[in-house]
Amino acid sequence: MASVTKDQVLAALADVLDPDSGQNVVAGGLISGVVVRDGNVGFALEVDPDHGAAKEPLRKACETAVERLSGVLSVTAVMTAERQASGQAQGHAHGPGHAHGPGHARGGQAQAGAQQTPQLLPGVKSLIAIASGKGGVGKSTTAVNIATAMAAQNVRVGLLDCDIYGPSIPRMLNLSGQPEMVGERTLRPMANYGIKCMSIGFLVAEDTAMIWRGPMVMQALEQMMRDVDWGELDVLLCDLPPGTGDAQLTMAQRVPLTGAVIVSTPQDIALLDVTRGINMFQQVNVPIFGVVENMSYYVCPQCGHRADIFHHGGARETAHRLGVDFLGEIPLDLDIRTTSDSGRPIVVTQPGSPHAASYRHIAAGLIDKASAAVGGAGRPQPRIVMM
Ligand code: ADP
Repeated sequence: MASVTKDQVLAALADVLDPDSGQNVVAGGLISGVVVRDGNVGFALEVDPDHGAAKEPLRKACETAVERLSGVLSVTAVMTAERQASGQAQGHAHGPGHAHGPGHARGGQAQAGAQQTPQLLPGVKSLIAIASGKGGVGKSTTAVNIATAMAAQNVRVGLLDCDIYGPSIPRMLNLSGQPEMVGERTLRPMANYGIKCMSIGFLVAEDTAMIWRGPMVMQALEQMMRDVDWGELDVLLCDLPPGTGDAQLTMAQRVPLTGAVIVSTPQDIALLDVTRGINMFQQVNVPIFGVVENMSYYVCPQCGHRADIFHHGGARETAHRLGVDFLGEIPLDLDIRTTSDSGRPIVVTQPGSPHAASYRHIAAGLIDKASAAVGGAGRPQPRIVMM
């Protein structure tokens, strides 16, 4: 079967009429970011921010129109309600009251011509990114266990699964189903183990092929921040997609992060991609809170013998060399894997284990760093201004 082309997608969308303007969605300039890869199609439907929810039928109609094309395997239409100044690329400028400490300015961001929109996360005191140079190092497992450890310390914590390519947080927190709507356009986050959670995994079927371009990533993420009733949170952990591609850089630039944590296994830490991860945040002036060494060593559950299978200590050395803090180490352990993969984080199900204690130690260190970065109770709140 011949693969569908971008022109065919646009032609199909040109048959969809926007009832408000009477124009088709292509002629009306509502479609952007069309990507077609191996029969998987993605695009954004730009709508007036004041009528976002009312446009859901139009979004659905666009998806249906494209689904009918021969050669289409999946369609993902993301609705975006960003205001866009005419003739300018989209971007954000941080106002003086964003989540960073006083005088903390992001590089490379335009400040002029700002048009203020509602704050992305008005009730969230600090946002911490959990990142890794590559996939499979245990970043999501670490994020979930840190979150549960924070909740156990009475911290009001949320976990935003920014890994839109492979969302695993719902499974790790044993959450399924769809978030409820509160009012017209706001979603109530899902919750378990005292953690509020939002993930693209709640909104699309698990087997849907995801293809996203940089701008669509940001639109989806902004919706998961702005259009979700997070309420008052001390910490929102953002589990980023692995790696340091455009999507991650965009997030690092545009989400008002208080700090970032890099998770690595010891054998990868010396690799260029970890250093690149640290550099990425430093370039956009996001403080590196530190490095966690995951799968640090192995203790045989039968005989207690400890084996440093992956050059234990590599992360500590590299953190030291790069001038960033070392936050702690977590061993390679079967219980960590089985509890994580079955939605029963070890911090919750085996709180007396040494592993749970290690996660609590890392979580406590992060809480201290976050509150120092935002200046304690009277800290400024994040503010994002669109231009
Ligand atoms: P990432 O988010 O970096 O892609 P995941 O958190 O999804 O990685 O972990 C990948 C796999 O490794 C999962 O099966 C997880 O249970 C397992 N895992 C993560 N950390 C550990 C650990 N410390 N010991 C044993 N298995 C682990």
